Amino acid sequence: MDGLGIVKGLGVTLKRFIGTYLDDIRWLGKRYYTREGIEHRMSADVEGVFTVQYPEEKLPVPEEFRFIPFLLYEVDEEGNKHDRCTSCGICAKVCPPQCIWIVRTNDPETGRPIPEPKEFYIDVDICMNCGFCAEYCPFDAIKMDHDYELAVEDRHTHNIYDKEKLSKPVSYYAGIRPVNYAREEALRAEAEAAKAARKAGKA
Ligand code: SF4
Ligand code: SF4
Repeated sequence: MDGLGIVKGLGVTLKRFIGTYLDDIRWLGKRYYTREGIEHRMSADVEGVFTVQYPEEKLPVPEEFRFIPFLLYEVDEEGNKHDRCTSCGICAKVCPPQCIWIVRTNDPETGRPIPEPKEFYIDVDICMNCGFCAEYCPFDAIKMDHDYELAVEDRHTHNIYDKEKLSKPVSYYAGIRPVNYAREEALRAEAEAAKAARKAGKA
């Protein structure tokens, strides 16, 4: 019958409308701005309208979510930072839109290259978040970030990220990608053990 679909649709809207208030009452106002509230509204049990109160509240992103890359550094016991990046240049070569620019460090006396970047830039307006740089880096030195809030007033002066802006500690990476971090650390430990065994065998 003509019009039955419209009536059904209006019924669904009304049910959602009432359900929103019932769910708000059930949660005593804690349905918004709390982690549990957001998780509830993302679940199949949710009643009523689902509205994210952005930017006050944000949906959690999955571990594999990727946005702009960042560089990792280790912190030793004395608190000194050590870049994982060796400035090998592989990420710049594989980057499809060619938005990575690296300046290698050279020994001032010998002129020979030192395996760390003097400068490292990414034009984040050109980066297409493909993750190739992170996939191809042989040193786990560049990873994809979760931070997607990049709005600035002047992109020409703010959106070419330099080494300082790109660098974050390994602990940050472990926090946003715990599964990946654990897997990589296990592989790293395995490789170190194999290397030590080879050395011992030669000795
Ligand atoms: S981030 Fe990785 S691939 Fe890129 S230059 Fe540094 S070590 Fe090489
Ligand atoms: S994510 Fe892709 S586009 Fe962005 S810097 Fe890495 S390789 Fe280039």
